[in-house]
Amino acid sequence: MKFTRWARFFSRIPIKFKLTLWSTVLIMVLLLSNYGLQYLVMEKWIIHREKSSVQRNMNEVLNHVLEQETNFKSEQLKDIKQFLSKVNREDQMIRIVDDDDSPIVTVSNDVAEHLTPPRSVSVQQISVYRMEAGPVLVMRSPFTIFEFNGTVEIVKSMAVYEQLIDTLLEVMQVFAVVAVLLSLLVGWLIVRKMLKPLQAMSQTIRDVNRNGLQERMIPAHNGDEISTLMVQFNEMMDKVEESFWQRSRFVEDASHELRTPIAIIEGHLTLLSRWGKNDPNVLDESLRASLDEFSRLKGLVSELLTLSRAEKDMTPLERPLANPVGTIGAILERFMTLHPDFEIELELENLEGYALLVSPDHLEQIMLILLDNAVKYSKAANTIHVRAGLDVPYATLMIEDQGIGIPAQDLPYVTERFYRVDRARRRTQGGNGLGLAIAKRLVERYQGKLVIRSEENVGTAVTLYIPLTPDGASKKEESA
Ligand code: ADP
Repeated sequence: MKFTRWARFFSRIPIKFKLTLWSTVLIMVLLLSNYGLQYLVMEKWIIHREKSSVQRNMNEVLNHVLEQETNFKSEQLKDIKQFLSKVNREDQMIRIVDDDDSPIVTVSNDVAEHLTPPRSVSVQQISVYRMEAGPVLVMRSPFTIFEFNGTVEIVKSMAVYEQLIDTLLEVMQVFAVVAVLLSLLVGWLIVRKMLKPLQAMSQTIRDVNRNGLQERMIPAHNGDEISTLMVQFNEMMDKVEESFWQRSRFVEDASHELRTPIAIIEGHLTLLSRWGKNDPNVLDESLRASLDEFSRLKGLVSELLTLSRAEKDMTPLERPLANPVGTIGAILERFMTLHPDFEIELELENLEGYALLVSPDHLEQIMLILLDNAVKYSKAANTIHVRAGLDVPYATLMIEDQGIGIPAQDLPYVTERFYRVDRARRRTQGGNGLGLAIAKRLVERYQGKLVIRSEENVGTAVTLYIPLTPDGASKKEESA
């Protein structure tokens, strides 16, 4: 319960505190484990060193005793004592004890004799005792010479080391406190600096909410993650803003387009209500004109719907178009019955055996738009060429007319919504300027593209690039 309350509290504190705290905790853990390790290594190392030095001393003493064949009579004790004083080291006592635990010879450098009681042993032993005055290393080794059983005792006081280690620990503690305070301070400064761009980002988002889509972030352009994020945010906002303006332009254009037929119908109805009731000529003329406008209106609304669907419909393709030659042939046949005065020259063999990633309905819709345009914008010439080809990974379908063509300055814009080369004239021809926009969006839905080549008074060729199925694409590569 308590833990979850802490966890909730911690999750709610600002990120800069969290980061500072975490970095400080990490530094503390690292420092402490480092100190712990140092302390352990040092203690072990000191004890190890002392043990081997005591061992060396012990060997010296034993060798001496055995070599000199000491008999531990009072006249020899002086010599032994002299020798022991020579080999003894600082903070160390050497004592020879007989089997009754009574000391026979003792030499000591600053070690109280009663620090450890004299004791004889039968086997060699070495150990560290923790005494009040500090740790003591005691080594005892038995020896026998001329029926004398004795023990050499070496007692090494390690209080000095302990003092050293204690002082070291104190220094480490002070250092650790300073390090933690420093890491808190530096961590806080770094984190504050790092989070500044994030705060700027959040401010910009607030500005977008308050002032509109034109607000942008000011990235540092240093290539770090935050500046990349800012650049990406700006790019996204460019797109959002562009699409917002496109939408509103679309609504404006659409309303504008709808207004003209509505105004015309309104004009005729006004005419009718004033004079038309009694004048059969006016009645007839106005009704005909209104019906024309109604059918134009209907066409426009249905095109607008198609365009809107082409833009957002994302249903995946159910299955590839397996027999493009048959399908395209059938579309063209249907088209020809509607325009018997036009001649269509076909070259579709290149697509024999390939499958296309497009739905037949959409392909028909696109082709009808292009064929309609070819008919609409052809004057005297009434031949249309339809040529299929391969441009891996696409299949191409070119629809070419010998009509009036598109002026070069208009060519880049003809696929925009409501774009007509000659606004006044095209209206009478029935175009709304939506056909190519619909065709382009439909073909792009399938990752295809639409390329238009045109020359005024020579003709126009619109090429559809429709993706082949992967196996179709690889088939072509193999045969190449
Ligand atoms: P519309 O419904 O007006 O034909 P489109 O989007 O299909 O609209 O075409 C846009 C404009 O491009 C047309 O107004 C026309 O001026 C021009 N255009 C399209 N296709 C052709 C073509 N085959 N020949 C000449 N001009 C064309």
